[in-house]
Amino acid sequence: MITVGVLALQGAIAEHINCLKKLPAVTVREVKTLADLNSIDGLILPGGESTAMGKILNYFNLLEPIAQKIKAGLPVWGTCAGMILLAKNISNQAETYFATMDITVKRNAYGSQLDSFQTDINLPEISNNPIPLIFIRAPYIEVAQEHVEVLAKIDNNIVAAKQDNMLVTSFHPELTQDLSWHKYFCNMILHK
Ligand code: GLN
Repeated sequence: MITVGVLALQGAIAEHINCLKKLPAVTVREVKTLADLNSIDGLILPGGESTAMGKILNYFNLLEPIAQKIKAGLPVWGTCAGMILLAKNISNQAETYFATMDITVKRNAYGSQLDSFQTDINLPEISNNPIPLIFIRAPYIEVAQEHVEVLAKIDNNIVAAKQDNMLVTSFHPELTQDLSWHKYFCNMILHK
């Protein structure tokens, strides 16, 4: 049995929780306080608005303690805004948040015409079936250092990557019926 936390300050929290509840041998926990952090084996940072999440994290003094946990090896998966929270660099903004992952991301990287879109991708490492990808005012990775494993690209832009205990996706698996990314993250937790 593993316990997966979902950072529950703002954003697509319930959707991730619903996906996790469908997986066997997984207990789900909303993470709102430092105490919640001590009872989880992995943490999902949901999509939403990274600036809003950053403000709330600062207000409740959670930014530094969570960053320390991630640096100490806590498995973490950032979806969309969550990816922005993990990036060491944000190309179109000075402020960073946990800043633990060696990537440069661009916020709202898809211009207004493509603010939100959906596509499918084949990624044998993640799933035997085509994976639906939903992008909502999404970031993408402009630069990934060489020790970052690129998992998926769309139009030559990196939209999923992994570095040690950190997984990031530009898109929202929790808004689809496909559980393959949630399973992939749980496997990361089990094999860390
Ligand atoms: N545009 C949002 C941000 O910059 C991310 C959007 C999302 O998480 N769906 O934080």
